[in-house]
Amino acid sequence: MRLDITTLLIVTFVLTLMVGGLFLFAWRQQRGTPALLIWGLAHILGALGSAGLALRGLIPDAISIVVSNAAVLSAYGLIWSGVEAFEGRRVRPLLTFGGVIAWLVLCCVPTFYATIEARVIFASALATAYCTAAALAIRAGRAEPLPSRTATAVVLAAYAACYAARIPATLLVPLRETRNPLQSEWVTGLCFAAMLFTLAIAFGFIALVKERAEHRQRIAASTDALTGVANRRAFVAEAEERLARGEPVALLLFDLDHFKVVNDTHGHAVGDAVLVAFCALARALLPEAAIGRLGGEEFACLIGDDGPAAVLARAERVRRAFATLALPELPGLRLAASAGVARAAGGDFDALMRRADQALYAAKRSGRDRVVAAAPLPRAA
Ligand code: GH3
Ligand code: MG
Ligand code: MG
Repeated sequence: MRLDITTLLIVTFVLTLMVGGLFLFAWRQQRGTPALLIWGLAHILGALGSAGLALRGLIPDAISIVVSNAAVLSAYGLIWSGVEAFEGRRVRPLLTFGGVIAWLVLCCVPTFYATIEARVIFASALATAYCTAAALAIRAGRAEPLPSRTATAVVLAAYAACYAARIPATLLVPLRETRNPLQSEWVTGLCFAAMLFTLAIAFGFIALVKERAEHRQRIAASTDALTGVANRRAFVAEAEERLARGEPVALLLFDLDHFKVVNDTHGHAVGDAVLVAFCALARALLPEAAIGRLGGEEFACLIGDDGPAAVLARAERVRRAFATLALPELPGLRLAASAGVARAAGGDFDALMRRADQALYAAKRSGRDRVVAAAPLPRAA
């Protein structure tokens, strides 16, 4: 199959311009994601740069070589910058445009400007560096689990590899000065690859933005907005899952004592601070626990069952720490919580919850500020 370079360049130009427009359109709807704007500008610059390269011989060399390559190199810098912005890092203009500045400076050096191999190698090295940096930045953000992360990083790395391969190829098969570089099979192949990569990267970026929005919505739907711990639905779902697996677990059910008085005496804001402080404390003392806010001032912690005494001791540690907690907002405020503890390996969550709740009720009835264990389940004969 022979690829007609002119057709290919026109298609690449239109396609890249459309992708740029698509990014800008997406950005208009999602102003909070500046990466979309940066990627949009990158693609539009890339399209204009490719058009300038395609018009080699028809427009002055200074525009076709110097300006067009500068536009394309800026596009790669912006692709990387967009990834940085997407990963929540500050955009660094000097690094983004450092490559293109170096290119413009070198073009003022007559021997560089006159040597096509030097120009091709330098531009390819820059494109390789920006695409590699973008791939690494996407990979570095993998703590945020987005399904398209790996694929997008791989596509960017493959694109970087294509550009990198162009460097030894240029050294091994020097381009002849008199020949229009557009006639080279390398450029045709690279242009075709660029078209496919442009599409694949755009799909990847759009997918990442969409997946992040979904991921954040999922987190918001399962998190208590005030305290940051799981909400009731998410906590119950996790507990049910662990019980279904037959995992031995212990449920520690805490209810703050006389919390209404705290609210009535010191105001709702102090009450909120107490709720946040209780969760921070529980998280610190039970780092491996699933913690959920079941409602108002009632919290549940699900931990692995390491025996009745150990489980009670862990609940007791939380109770004691809370009773001696000094709230920065109101250091003199004395706080207390009661807890009911129940253990199970399998069975249904409602039954476990009922037992922990009865134990909590017993703790309240017998004077508050204490931990009570639910009666153990009778052993099967
Ligand atoms: P007990 O020792 O029997 O548990 O008494 P209590 O006062 O803690 O329990 P009660 O159920 O009477 O009051 C719970 C209070 O918790 C009432 C409600 O205003 C308060 N509350 C519920 N949700 C929030 C919240 O998000 N922020 C604040 N500040 N208060 C809340
Ligand atoms: Mg209470
Ligand atoms: Mg309560």
